[in-house]
Amino acid sequence: MRRQVLIIGAGASGLMAAIHAARAGALVTLLEHKEQAGKKILSTGNGRCNLTNLDQREEYYRCSQKGFPQSVLTRFTVEDTLNFFEGLGIVPKSRNGYIYPNSDQASSVLEALLLETKGLGVKILYECRVHKIEKREGRFCVSSSQGEYLADALILAAGSKAAPVTGSDGSGYELAAALGHKVITPLPALVQLRCREPYYRQLAGVRTEARLSLFADQTFLAGERGELQLTDYGISGIPTFQVSRYACAALHRKQKVTVTIDFLPHMSEKEAEEFLGRRRQSLGERTCGQWMNGLLNRKLSLVLLKLSGIEKDEKINGLSPRQWDRLLRQITAYETTVIAANPFENAQVCCGGVDTRQIYEGTLESRLVRDLYFCGEILDVDGCCGGYNLQWAWSSGAAAGTSAAGSGNGIKSSPRGTGHRAAAADGTVQKEPGRFHNKKRKGRT
Ligand SMILES: Cc1cc2nc3c(=O)[nH]c(=O)nc-3n(C[C@H](O)[C@H](O)[C@H](O)COP(=O)(O)OP(=O)(O)OC[C@H]3O[C@@H](n4cnc5c(N)ncnc54)[C@H](O)[C@@H]3O)c2cc1C
Repeated sequence: MRRQVLIIGAGASGLMAAIHAARAGALVTLLEHKEQAGKKILSTGNGRCNLTNLDQREEYYRCSQKGFPQSVLTRFTVEDTLNFFEGLGIVPKSRNGYIYPNSDQASSVLEALLLETKGLGVKILYECRVHKIEKREGRFCVSSSQGEYLADALILAAGSKAAPVTGSDGSGYELAAALGHKVITPLPALVQLRCREPYYRQLAGVRTEARLSLFADQTFLAGERGELQLTDYGISGIPTFQVSRYACAALHRKQKVTVTIDFLPHMSEKEAEEFLGRRRQSLGERTCGQWMNGLLNRKLSLVLLKLSGIEKDEKINGLSPRQWDRLLRQITAYETTVIAANPFENAQVCCGGVDTRQIYEGTLESRLVRDLYFCGEILDVDGCCGGYNLQWAWSSGAAAGTSAAGSGNGIKSSPRGTGHRAAAADGTVQKEPGRFHNKKRKGRT
């Protein structure tokens, strides 16, 4: 008898789970409360879908249980992901190790997943909101807006609270909690940070290379380098996103959160001091405003001078040692106080979620409820920006789907083989026996 598997949520992880469960022989039905599947996939990578990353490191995935993400990711790897998508007709393209479909269209990834589910006979029920799950005589009984469904195994792939417009409104956490699972408070992650200082209005629109160091009660928590974006309320851009989950967690603990920004991130502190000193000598006749010209963005320069207590029309050579020190400090260690993060509506993912200590890492089955599985963002796993969250969705979806179908804890290996890969000159990712392309990514410190 074929096992009947119900999956709640037709997002990235739910679709992946459905395909793997169906390939392993199960009868699969997906229950999706939106009118279409994979709405979040469509917004990924600015509509281009950064579907994974060749540079995989343990520290790029965060979880309260150390080692849990890695144990899942090593069972269904980036290599398996690339083979899987190639098998569906997606040609992967590498940009410094960040993988996109060659079409540069997230819609092509979604279409490929949906074609495969269709080919495998997976049923998808739309506008079907699940509100209750019970276990009756060893089987699951799922109550939804379209009635009751029975299943031998159930996969919760309902996502987080991030970007609720795409369907992930946090109801998955409630379903998990009702089944006895602990949910670690979900907080926004990969999100903009709102800062206290009043002069952000003047800085809105500035983009500049910078190194960010995040502190909670003066203890260093995280650092990141990349293109910082200044907005009328605070800081944004990739380096902000990367440190934001630590900021949100610290704010949640009621700690004082500050960010120190180095606007000359390509130099050490000593190099910057020497460089600026030489610049002061060679351009000593200029006013401070003129001296800053070409060094940093104009709007930013004016704010930094003001914060140093310096008039833009003062001569750079006329500054007192104290003024000069203050200016150096603003350029290399400008400090801002974070008062809040933007809400879930603006977040790409959540940190927190279903506690993985209640989940078997090999199968993603619940330790509390037999035949109940979890995958994707509903779990307390969040990745850095750069393809890591989708990789988590693919790997955990593959594991949960295969296990729920009753195929033990082994994930079916791809029929396309496992040759190593490298990025070709045109950026598409090629198989290349014996060499693993693992180029260090730009912008990460
Ligand atoms: C703007 C944006 C850009 C991003 N870009 C990238 C990127 O380029 N690379 C990357 O790796 N990651 C990216 N991410 C993150 C990535 O998209 C997510 O981590 C991933 O899609 C999560 O997949 P999931 O299956 O766990 O959840 P989701 O994709 O959120 O799917 C959950 C599904 O469950 C459904 N559902 C929820 N509750 C119920 C219910 N009660 N009943 C029925 N159905 C329900 C929802 O409608 C939804 O379809 C981005 C996220 C955002 C918001």
